[in-house]
Amino acid sequence: MLKTQGYAAPSAKALLEPYSFERREPQDDDVAIDIKYCGICHSDIHQAREEWGDAIFPMVPGHEIAGIVSAVGKKVTKYKVGDKVGVGCFVDSCHTCPQCQQGLEQYCSAGPVFTYNGREYDGTHTYGGYSDKIVVKEDYVLRMPNNLPLDAAAPLLCAGITLYSPLRHWQAGPGKKVGIIGLGGLGHMGVKIAHALGAEVTVLSHSQKKREDAKRLGADQFYSTADPETFTKLQGYFDLIINTVSAELDWNLYLGLLKVDGSLVVVGIPDKPIPIGAFYLVPHRRSLAGSMIGGIRETQEMLDFCGKHSITSDIEVIPIQKVNEAYDRVVKSDVKYRFVIDMSSIKAQ
Ligand code: NAP
Ligand code: ZN
Repeated sequence: MLKTQGYAAPSAKALLEPYSFERREPQDDDVAIDIKYCGICHSDIHQAREEWGDAIFPMVPGHEIAGIVSAVGKKVTKYKVGDKVGVGCFVDSCHTCPQCQQGLEQYCSAGPVFTYNGREYDGTHTYGGYSDKIVVKEDYVLRMPNNLPLDAAAPLLCAGITLYSPLRHWQAGPGKKVGIIGLGGLGHMGVKIAHALGAEVTVLSHSQKKREDAKRLGADQFYSTADPETFTKLQGYFDLIINTVSAELDWNLYLGLLKVDGSLVVVGIPDKPIPIGAFYLVPHRRSLAGSMIGGIRETQEMLDFCGKHSITSDIEVIPIQKVNEAYDRVVKSDVKYRFVIDMSSIKAQ
């Protein structure tokens, strides 16, 4: 077994604290990775605080993992010691259901094995990337573009793919008007990727504070949703709106901003149901949809796309000892735009 040092939430109400545990010895098809950086996703906070229902504790969160291969099993062909690799939100899936066969492992019928707060198919509890090493089957490991720094590329493994997948699925590109609700970790990746895909990008933010940043990140337009005029000015304007916000919003107001045949895609996950008026959908043939991360093939495609366009996340690097402070700041939207833990700090515990 591999002795591993990390940080864990012992229970939903407790702060994260140092935690030692063991990973499996690499099997024939496994890749062992020395984790160098791990992004802090808002989903880590939702789960560590048990906001999405029953969670498994102690919980080592983290699914934006970037590191270097330290060992490979004897059947591994794609990776070798020293390669720059990443791990995202899941580390296994059933391989046999229709979704797995299409490369949509994130929608696996058996449920993908989530990187943390999940169980392997043999029942073993999974621990995530707030730790110094991880062992993952080769098929669930991603290759990081050589030209991107590992710290700023780590958030691509969740925030990047969560926006890339719906932008591609709903065909964002030249001539398309895309709105991104919420300029946070996910939202700022959405702005960069939609811009690189050639779409016109508008940020819909709940204050005026991020106006300059939005433009710098590649947005063509910025509107504050605190101003009721935004919703009259932009009536029927967008082909696609992606909602990255987990706070409760009036989705009907945003449906009103879609053209005929436009789509509102939900990726942020509020904990309460949101009422929808059929009249916001029916007379305009609008769609309301959801989207979750992306499959392995598409995640690699996104990483290669980001490598080609030199797209990374805007990050604030922290030592792991500051993780609880970082959580509070994420909840207050006080981060530009993703915290990334430097895992070399773990040795200083
Ligand atoms: P984040 O960095 O905290 O960003 C959320 C953004 O929401 C904030 O930056 C803020 O943007 C906006 N916001 C915050 N409070 C608000 C309020 N009271 N009213 C309106 N807007 C508010 O979070 P994230 O890491 O991007 O994650 C966002 C959500 O996506 C979370 O629920 C997370 O669990 C979920 N998620 C989903 C997937 C998926 O596969 N579907 C993957 C990863 C994460 P402005 O200041 O610009 O308004
Ligand atoms: Zn995430």
